[in-house]
Parts: sequence; structure tokens; C-alpha cells
Amino acid sequence: MKDTDRFWSPALRGLRAYTPGEQPQGDGWIKLNTNENPYPPSALALQRMAEVVNDSLRLYPDPQALALRETIAGQHGLQVDQVFVGNGSDEVLAHAFMGLLRHGRPVLVPDISYSFYPVYCGLYGITCQQVPLDDDFRVRVADYLQPNGGVVLPNPNAPTGIVLPLDALRWLLERNTESVVVIDEAYVDFGAESAAALINEFPQLLVIQTLSKSRALAGLRVGFALGHADLIRALTTVKDSFNSYPLDRVALAGAQAALADQAHFTDTTQRIVASREWLATRLAALGFECLPSSANFLLARHPQRSAAQLQQALRERKILVRHFNQPRIADHLRITVGSQAECEALVDALSDLLAPIQNANEVASA
Ligand SMILES: *Cc1c(COP(=O)(O)O)cnc(C)c1O
Repeated sequence: MKDTDRFWSPALRGLRAYTPGEQPQGDGWIKLNTNENPYPPSALALQRMAEVVNDSLRLYPDPQALALRETIAGQHGLQVDQVFVGNGSDEVLAHAFMGLLRHGRPVLVPDISYSFYPVYCGLYGITCQQVPLDDDFRVRVADYLQPNGGVVLPNPNAPTGIVLPLDALRWLLERNTESVVVIDEAYVDFGAESAAALINEFPQLLVIQTLSKSRALAGLRVGFALGHADLIRALTTVKDSFNSYPLDRVALAGAQAALADQAHFTDTTQRIVASREWLATRLAALGFECLPSSANFLLARHPQRSAAQLQQALRERKILVRHFNQPRIADHLRITVGSQAECEALVDALSDLLAPIQNANEVASA
């Protein structure tokens, strides 16, 4: 401990905080490193937000965010008391770790997963037990049948992009009935089935979604949870013991309008899914091995090139992708699916960088 840190709480000492992906300064970058949406947010949402930037900002926002929660409840066929909203799904997740995961017992998360989960465990003094994915990087639900203080699974998983079928999840929920199961659906709109349909059957199920990815509103910070009213009350209690107004008036107005703009949502998600399939095919042609993704990113490795070196070489060409220097995936790159033009620029840069290898392979096989 540094002497200057002597005022720090013991809980903070030794805590390893989360490192967000790089947000570069200046223009001209192709940002394929933080799974943002390449398309603009809904024009209706932008308009609604502009309309509330006025004298109304004198007043606090609705602490219950009732109008937004009603919109979300309506879209998922739930009651308003089954919906919680927060300042990005990261905050909703943090409240769930704090208020719903049984401290004193290990919380189970996949070994390759969203790296924020172990950080929340560290912050709240929860034991985090990482359950290995199988050799194909898939979640095996049977591995989660062990005493636990909660199970947290992203679906599709990040950074693999692999989806867990709803049947498998149901199988787990039928057997894991004594602790909360959190399904983090940050990427669900790009090709997975939402577990929201199971909420009225399983009171221990909490589903978390965000407007950051499929609604192109990462900068607005809006996320939400769906679950049994008793789970939602726990989250509300944490929130009201922390910050009564996590969503400001602009965020409330923008989020509601964005969720209502189905046409924009369908158009942009379909484009991203089409670009993902195009990009996966082109990466394979360049020799990459890609995991089958149902998200807005691809996890890919090149058998003949180090991921760290490739990331650096792309960076020099002003293209950012993400590399996780951690066991099992250190030789992979996580590439966000950008606009079609961005995907094409990436493929051009990679073709260039890999040309010496491609040529050598052709000579070898000739
Ligand atoms: C992006 C992401 C989040 C966080 O989303 P915000 O709503 O922007 O806080 C949560 N979980 C996973 C798996 C993510 O990839």
C-alpha cells in the first residue's frame, strides 16, 4: 500500500477494478473494440431528448421512472413492478450482486465471460467461482449444479458470442431453485431468444438488458432488469439506498422513445447481423477461426499470427479491436461488427497484414 492510500477503506485495497476498452481521442478511428453500435440512435429518441433540454431540468426526474418502466413492461408482457431501470446495465448488475446474490457462498460465472463480474464480487466481498466453458467455449449448464450463492450467465456469452438455448436455461432453472440466476442479455437482440419469457415461471430468474448495444445508446447509460416483483423490490431498495435518481430526464425521455422506435431498431440490427455474417466469411477466408456468434462481435484467432501483434498492427492503421490478455483467449481478438464500410476496411487491413502468410501458404501448398 502506498502511504498516500492510507485513507482508503480496506475493501478497496487489493481490489482489481474493471478496465473499459479504449475510447480514443481525435478523429479518424475505426472503433471495433467496445461493441458499440455503428449506426446512430433513433431519430425519434434524439428529438425527444432535445425537447426535454429546457426549463424542466430544474426539477428532479421521476425517481420511479414509471413511464419508462411501463413501456418496457408492455414490450415484454410483464407488470410494471417486474421492471427495474438503472444507469446502464452495469449499475443494474452491481445492484443485483449487492442485493440478490447470497454472500457467503460462491457466485458461479463462466471462466470466459464479462470481466466485470469478478470485480463486483471483489467490491462486495463475494467469492467468485469461475466455471470453465467446455473445449468449444460453450456453457455446460450441468456444471452449475453445485452449491452456490447465485449464477450469472451472459446470453449470448461475451466475449465468445455463443448462445445458450432457452431449453438449457430452463433445465438449469428447474434444478437451481434456491439462488438467483442472473441472465445478462446485453447482446440478446442480435440473435438469441430472451429468457424474459420464463420470468413468470421462475421467481429466481433475473434478466438484464441494456440500450447500449442494440439501441445505439451507450452514451446515454440506460439498462434494465426484468424479474419477479420481489427481486425487483430488492434492486429498488439498493437503488434507494444509493441514488434515488440514476436516470436523468434526458435519459428517461430518450430511452422511452428509442424503445418505441421498432422500425429503426429492426433495420439497424438486421444490418449488423448481415455484416457479422459477411465478416465471419471473410475472416475465415483469411485463415481466421471464428466462434459462431449471435452477438454484434466476433471472437477470432489466426493460427499463424499473435493476436497481440495483430491488434497493435491494426491500431497503427487506426483500427481498434479488443485483445484480452487472459488464459484460453489470449490468442483471440474480439472484433465488434461495425458498419459494412468499417468491416470492409478491417478486412482490407487484415488482408494486407496477412499477405506474407497467405503467399507463403500458397507456395507451400503448390
Ligand atoms: C456492454 C455490456 C454490459 C454493460 O452495458 P451498459 O448497459 O452499457 O452498462 C453488460 N454486460 C455485458 C456482457 C456487456 O457486454
